[in-house]
Amino acid sequence: METETVTADPFGDGWVNPMNNPGAANAAIGQALATATAGSPMPDIPAHHTSGHVDLVGGFFDGEGQLVRHATVRELTGEHEERIAKARQSRNSARMLATLLECGVERLGDQEATPKLLRKLLIGDRDQLILEIRRATYGNELEFPAAECPHCNGKVDLELTLDDIPTRHLDTPEDRNFTVPLRRGRVANVRLPIGEDQEALLELSGNNASLAEQNTLLLSRTVKSFTEPDGSETQAAGIPAMVRERLSMPDRAAILKALNDRRPGPRYDELSFTHDACGEEVELPVTVSDLFLGL
Ligand SMILES: [Zn+2]
Repeated sequence: METETVTADPFGDGWVNPMNNPGAANAAIGQALATATAGSPMPDIPAHHTSGHVDLVGGFFDGEGQLVRHATVRELTGEHEERIAKARQSRNSARMLATLLECGVERLGDQEATPKLLRKLLIGDRDQLILEIRRATYGNELEFPAAECPHCNGKVDLELTLDDIPTRHLDTPEDRNFTVPLRRGRVANVRLPIGEDQEALLELSGNNASLAEQNTLLLSRTVKSFTEPDGSETQAAGIPAMVRERLSMPDRAAILKALNDRRPGPRYDELSFTHDACGEEVELPVTVSDLFLGL
């Protein structure tokens, strides 16, 4: 069995994010609760939330090899709304995500946030920037009126904040590269995925590729090489055959699990609350559509 590596639905329309691993049950619960948000009023926009400083969870290296770990986001305007809506009409998730980031991210470090630079960011940084664009535009509150508890079927008016979404930071910049021990003494040398990888995956999932095919693409991009038991190194980056034909299913699963465990950024799929009436913990994975009501 391949590890289950999918499926949050950030745009609520069948879009699958191979980076997330909430499990099908969570996703279904999220779907049920998310539908409760349709028709809810737009939250009040605090006047001071026009642009914001962001400390990136991972950061990136600039042209001089210096680590840059801050960015600035801006409040989305009507012009941005039109651009994002147009991108959404194309039903191209990669384009939609890119447009949202291009509209909302002002600067990355001291540089202008160009599309090229945004594609080089870790997916965790991109997810965090989306969260901060949301904060700058609509504020911190997340409302789920009349959400249904899947344990007792009771209704609850939920008020959470963006700060309730668990977030993981990279301890050191070097943590973007790591090793995964495999069977028979092999070791995989792996890097965390970036925006370019995300776009390639979205492209593939938009073409109805199977989960296994998506995993092959993710692995072929993020596994840089293998260290063999005799210490020699076999190159793997960009060679799909290396992760399709020369890697066992348990080894593939081990690398996919490490990629998921180590991903920095907000864990949109790990939001939960305790339902006071029945005392049960309810998982409430949020989607980009939940964050930007109506977009
Ligand atoms: Zn309950």
